Amino acid sequence: IVRLCNVHKWFGDNHVLKGVDLSVHKGEIVAIIGQSGSGKSTALRCMDHLEIIQEGQITVCGHTFGAGISGKNLKSLRMDVGIVFQSYNLFPHLTVEQNITLAPRSVRKVKSADAKEIAAKVLAEVGLSDKIHFYPEQLSGGQQQRVAIARSLAMGPKLMLFDEITSALDPQLTGEVLRVIEKLAAAGMTMVLVTHEMAFAMKLAHRIIFMHEGKIHEQGGPEILRNPSTPELQQFVSNGL
Ligand code: ATP
Ligand code: MG
Repeated sequence: IVRLCNVHKWFGDNHVLKGVDLSVHKGEIVAIIGQSGSGKSTALRCMDHLEIIQEGQITVCGHTFGAGISGKNLKSLRMDVGIVFQSYNLFPHLTVEQNITLAPRSVRKVKSADAKEIAAKVLAEVGLSDKIHFYPEQLSGGQQQRVAIARSLAMGPKLMLFDEITSALDPQLTGEVLRVIEKLAAAGMTMVLVTHEMAFAMKLAHRIIFMHEGKIHEQGGPEILRNPSTPELQQFVSNGL
C-alpha cells in the first residue's frame, strides 16, 4: 500500500532524506522512531505528498508521485490517506460535528444528512459521542486529538499516518488516544506512526523503523528495541527507555 524507492529530500542545502526505501503492506502497523531531526516527520509528510521530493519515487494507495511526477491525483490521494499531527488543527469556530462533516461534504460531496451519520459513527469509535455539539476549546487535549482522528476516519481512509500525536499530552490523555489507535489496529487499519512511545510501539507495531541522519538505519520486529544490532539504535534505546 506504501512504497518509497530511493527517496531524497533537501530543504535548501539540508539533505534531510538520503535514499529512503520503505514498503508498508496492507494491514501492517509500522512505527518510525529516531532522534529529533532524523527525518521522521519529513518521511511521513512525503507519503501524503505534503513535501515534494527531489529524487526517487513514492507510491501510496496506487498513486505514484516523485521527482518530476506531479501529484495530479492529489485529491484522491488525500481521500485515501488520513494524517494526524501533534497539533490537532481543528477549526476553533466549528463544532466537533462541523469539523468532522466538512471534508466529507466538500471533498466527497456527501449529503449533509449522510455526513452527520458518518460523524456520529466515527465519534462513537473514538468514544466521544456526547461531545458532538461542543467546540474544540471546550475539550481536553486528548479529546481534541480523538476528534482529529475521527475527522480523518470520516473520509474512509485506507492508510492512517500519525506524527507524534501524543507528545503534547499528559500520560492519562495519552492513554485515551493510544486506546483509539489500538482499536484501529484491531480493526485492521494500515498505519504508520512516528512515535516516542517505545512501550506502545513494541506492543502494537509489526515493524519498527529506526531513522538516523536521514536514512533507515535499522529495522525489524519489536525485538530490535531489546536487541539492537547497531550502536546507534543501542544508544537511542538506552537514552529513551
Ligand atoms: P522530531 O523528532 O524533532 O520531530 P524529525 O525526525 O521529525 O524530528 P524532521 O521534522 O523530519 O525531523 O526534520 C528533519 C530535518 O529537516 C531537520 O533538520 C529540520 O530542520 C529540517 N526541516 C524539516 N521541515 C523543514 C521545513 N519545512 N523547512 C526547512 N527545513 C525543514
Ligand atoms: Mg517530527
